[in-house]
Amino acid sequence: MKQPAAKTPDTELSQFRVTGEIPVPVLINWLTSAAVPILLFFAGRAASADNNSFTAALLVTFAALLALNSLVYLGTRLQSLHRRGFIGLITALFTFLVIQAVEDGSAIIWLFAYPPVIFYISQARVGVIACAGGLAALAFLFSPAGDLIFQPPYSTSFRISMIIVLGFEMVTCYILDQSRRRSKLRLLKLATEFEFAAKHDALTGLANRREGLEQLDIEYQRYLRSQRSFSVMLMDIDLFKGINDRYGHHAGDELIRMVAGILRDQCRKVDTVARWGGEEYLVLLPETGPEEALKTAQRIRAAVEAGSVKVDRHSIGATISVGTATIAGSESIDHLLQRADEALYAAKSAGRNQACAAGI
Ligand code: GH3
Ligand code: MG
Ligand code: MG
Repeated sequence: MKQPAAKTPDTELSQFRVTGEIPVPVLINWLTSAAVPILLFFAGRAASADNNSFTAALLVTFAALLALNSLVYLGTRLQSLHRRGFIGLITALFTFLVIQAVEDGSAIIWLFAYPPVIFYISQARVGVIACAGGLAALAFLFSPAGDLIFQPPYSTSFRISMIIVLGFEMVTCYILDQSRRRSKLRLLKLATEFEFAAKHDALTGLANRREGLEQLDIEYQRYLRSQRSFSVMLMDIDLFKGINDRYGHHAGDELIRMVAGILRDQCRKVDTVARWGGEEYLVLLPETGPEEALKTAQRIRAAVEAGSVKVDRHSIGATISVGTATIAGSESIDHLLQRADEALYAAKSAGRNQACAAGI
């Protein structure tokens, strides 16, 4: 069976959502709703307990900016701005918490919340860059140069543990995130394959009868709206049972495939070519009148007559009979198909290897 091309790049992955997965904007809004009261709580503590109005003011500012970021998103629905705004704000916030040693330096443990959030809401590449940059910045802060500039209040053993544990967490988050992305990709690929299989015929790769009917219905609705007429061709391989009997079922299958290939080649991109039954095909020709439909049918009939397949050193050919019908007035799809079937029957009765147009 012809398989669809899989959409794989990591950058495109976030556009597809698997059922049950929390959408990124929703997660960001949840995190914002949790972060705002927490920030206000610590701002209150900084103002009253520590009498540190600078820290309090900055924490309130971060809370306000995070809330604003979500409000802008709710107003504009600009996902990428929302995500970038959130990443920028939490990166700045965590940097501030660490450098200012908020809450007697204990606020630094909030850094552990950063890697899982960053990996979930952004592409893997962004997550790696943000985490590696964050770890490098922390290492600098804990270095003698950082001591000189910021005088952080952390003990040596705390610094060592913090760097190692945070690095460990970042690597773990990366591995889990990669595994999540791979599973999602596999799931999306399977969904694409199932969708393709549900709409296509396994032997020929053409649309199956259900998909043919679906396209017919779509075209019919368009016709009802715009009165742009369309035609259908029903075709059937002549004396096919004899080919099966003489050369075997396998040879019959090859012939069915060959006719499908000719139909694909002869029809336009806008046409729908479906395997209608065993050795029957339906072609839907949008915006096509009766003369053009009959001309197309004649061309296809001649192409099939000229074609052949080689099976077990036999060169096997076949002919087809075709019935065409063009939608008219307010007739139903069933009626249109019935007229095409009658035209096909007329072509068979007239000696096969012919194309006949239906009467109204
Ligand atoms: P006519 O010209 O009147 O259409 O004669 P025919 O022999 O083609 O018509 P008939 O309907 O009697 O035979 C169709 C045959 O197609 C019977 C069935 O075994 C065979 N057939 C249906 N589906 C397949 C298939 O997928 N593969 C193969 N090899 N044969 C199939
Ligand atoms: Mg048949
Ligand atoms: Mg037949």
